[in-house]
Amino acid sequence: MLDPEFRPASASPPVQSCCPQCDSELAVLSVIGGRAGSEYWAMRCTECGGIHLDIVRPAPAPHRA
Ligand SMILES: [Zn+2]
Repeated sequence: MLDPEFRPASASPPVQSCCPQCDSELAVLSVIGGRAGSEYWAMRCTECGGIHLDIVRPAPAPHRA
């Protein structure tokens, strides 16, 4: 059963695509729909195998810089 908020990975995901540890490519394992339209992107480094989780929000949050 797919989550209604599930969306497949697009060509240019608005998330980091490089491993912060070894600067290699990250492969998207899965995208999980979260609350308020946010998404959890589970990504695995193709080099060191590290798992990285990013929270992606569809709209810019009213956050002061
Ligand atoms: Zn890595």
